[in-house]
Amino acid sequence: MKFAVLRGRAHLVSSDCSALADIETISGGTISSDPNYCFSVWDQVQALAKQKHNYNIPCIPSELDAPSPRPPQMFGIGLNYRSHALESGMDIPKTPLTFPKFLSSVNSPNGDIPIDSSTVDFESELVVVIAKPGRDIATENAWSHIAGVCPGQDISDRGVQFASVPPQFGLGKSKRGYSPFGPWLTTPDEIPNKEELAILCTVNGEEMQNSTTGDLIFPVSDIIHYLSSIVELLPGDVIFTGTPGGVGVSRKPPVFLKSGDTVVTTLAGVGSITNRCI
Ligand code: ZN
Repeated sequence: MKFAVLRGRAHLVSSDCSALADIETISGGTISSDPNYCFSVWDQVQALAKQKHNYNIPCIPSELDAPSPRPPQMFGIGLNYRSHALESGMDIPKTPLTFPKFLSSVNSPNGDIPIDSSTVDFESELVVVIAKPGRDIATENAWSHIAGVCPGQDISDRGVQFASVPPQFGLGKSKRGYSPFGPWLTTPDEIPNKEELAILCTVNGEEMQNSTTGDLIFPVSDIIHYLSSIVELLPGDVIFTGTPGGVGVSRKPPVFLKSGDTVVTTLAGVGSITNRCI
């Protein structure tokens, strides 16, 4: 099943991704259009998706909202690919290095990214959204708590991030528009190779990052186990799971985003988002 949000309302996406069906309408009003409500009754939404529906709304990715537009909590995991930890000159973390991405940074999948400094960087990431809430979630049960996955960008202003010692990841990654993800969520059952997805980033067509989620130091199930040992995970929560090597700040010379650039982030077989820098 694929799930998208259009003008704040939850929708199912047709299997060819060309059309949408409004969940509140096709459920006869039994399931609210509120995305966070849908995540809280995810089993019902998945049962609804198995029925035949009239997908009568065009699915235009540039019109879609983030597939979890008002997450109760949004987490980022830092240095979670060996290639990126090495290029950053930092130690490999012993536990998932976690920071908040503040909620006002949520951007639509193809939303513009305002550039207001000379140190704005790209980080292509696998993003997961939580459906079933929980604390102390066992590693082997972790995927059953996930609504779906999609590509995302953990845009980072390195100047803000490294303005003090130790760095302040949360603010550096939370400016306006810094958290685009989408265009839709794909449920884990539709992704046979969900632990081994190719992840790519291009800037103006030039390849900057090319890796696979199989290289994650802490895979998705470990992240969910670890986070839920400390906080309660809630329906609609968003987790940016880390970025592979190739980010701009580690390049020689460094490459930073500027107005007019186009960033394309792809999770192979799942989806792609395109963000223009303004
Ligand atoms: Zn990141």
